[in-house]
Amino acid sequence: MVIEDTLQASERLVQTLRQHGPMTVLTGAGISTDSGIPAYRDDTGAWKSSPPMQHQEFMRSAAARQRYWARSLHGWPRLFYAKPNIAHQTLANWQHQGLIGTIITQNVDGLHQRAGSGNVIDLHGDANMMVCMQCGDKTPRLEMHQRCLALNPNYSDHTPPPNSDTRPDGDAALEGDFSDFEVPACTRCGGILKPDVVYFGDNVPRERVESAQAALRNSDGLIVIGSSLIVFSGYRFARQAHQAGQPLILLNLGTTRADDLATLRLRTPIAQTLGYGF
Ligand SMILES: [Zn+2]
Repeated sequence: MVIEDTLQASERLVQTLRQHGPMTVLTGAGISTDSGIPAYRDDTGAWKSSPPMQHQEFMRSAAARQRYWARSLHGWPRLFYAKPNIAHQTLANWQHQGLIGTIITQNVDGLHQRAGSGNVIDLHGDANMMVCMQCGDKTPRLEMHQRCLALNPNYSDHTPPPNSDTRPDGDAALEGDFSDFEVPACTRCGGILKPDVVYFGDNVPRERVESAQAALRNSDGLIVIGSSLIVFSGYRFARQAHQAGQPLILLNLGTTRADDLATLRLRTPIAQTLGYGF
């Protein structure tokens, strides 16, 4: 069944939640666009601009890291200062009321936690934290940001062009010569510091996948919000729900990879659908 009317979608969603025990929620970039965080992909799942940073490139190339950190000086603050929107707030409320259980998110912006949700699985990590690739030390990204600014004073007042395009992970599409950019290393061991996110080309840690799968198995179904499910790391949960005979609800304006598996498709705007009657 497909619903394209927002009010009807909103009523049907709440009705479904009341008929079942707590369902698991999987969120993607579409839930955060109303918080000013752009999506990587358009409604059809195609890249909006050049593909984002690849894990191998980041680890292998010092020049790629210089470019990444120089661009992040402009891109990351937008992520850091983003506020949850009504969709994040509604999910936090529903969680407190016991209507939904675990929130699995493909986003790395931390907005579910900022909205007051507990029991969130950050499938692809947290862009506001750093991890040392050598010793595993985890530190706040704000610290890295401030070290970058201090080491590269000539970059601090460099304003991005008006068309600069911020990425969901804090990267920004800014071109230029970054060969003199000094990239800070781990203060404990001198290793390479990386945002604590799963980049394209890297795998989600197995224990994180297993805890998400267990949460879904022990719940009454899956609601996917704002994801085209193009990436397998998200699609597998839709498939798991379908195979277990659980209800699978998709709330997304565009098409998704799991459209043919869904028991209910809501093709309506996310914030309006979730925020109705808030
Ligand atoms: Zn280290």
